[in-house]
Amino acid sequence: FDEAWQRNQQNQMLIARLDALAHQDALTETANRRAMESILENAVSQQKSFSLIMLDVDYFKLYNDTYGHQAGDECLARVAQALKQSVRTPDDVVSRYGGEEFVVILFECSAKMAEQVAARIQDTLRVFAIAHSASKVSNCVTVSMGIAGMTPGLSASQLIAQADAALYRAKEAGRDRWAV
Ligand code: GH3
Ligand code: MG
Ligand code: MG
Repeated sequence: FDEAWQRNQQNQMLIARLDALAHQDALTETANRRAMESILENAVSQQKSFSLIMLDVDYFKLYNDTYGHQAGDECLARVAQALKQSVRTPDDVVSRYGGEEFVVILFECSAKMAEQVAARIQDTLRVFAIAHSASKVSNCVTVSMGIAGMTPGLSASQLIAQADAALYRAKEAGRDRWAV
């Protein structure tokens, strides 16, 4: 019986670990897109108050072209670290949305306060100073950000679409900045 119980305990631990891995992006050790979307859907259905920042690394194709794809991978891991350092953990959620795009969910946070977080992200990246000689906006890695605050009646996909539209405006306006 003891042996069977121990085996069961080990299996439970393995399942928990696999479950955690299934929700993570391996390269950046942030929540993966699926996990983020489920957290977002929950927050919307529970009418939580939160804001969302969608981020995209500026001129990242040029980064890969200059330093190589492996260095590009390391760069994404560093950017993720900068994001995690710039938010309140464990409350806030940093996730890799895809490629060189991230989504940050900030709970109990207005769009106005999210702008302060965006400024902190910029500051942290400046401190990290990841060289990017081919960038057209800086000599270090920068991001553009789109901010959207949750308002009653909005769906998760509408909120993402708003953040995406704001991100597009930040890119158009010259990159290395945010738009709300
Ligand atoms: P912009 O400032 O407009 O965002 O330009 P950009 O070059 O960052 O955007 P673009 O969409 O042209 O290029 C994104 C690049 O990101 C292309 C793709 O190869 C690279 N990328 C996506 N995922 C990964 C990854 O996991 N690792 C690496 N190294 N590169 C990736
Ligand atoms: Mg992109
Ligand atoms: Mg980009």
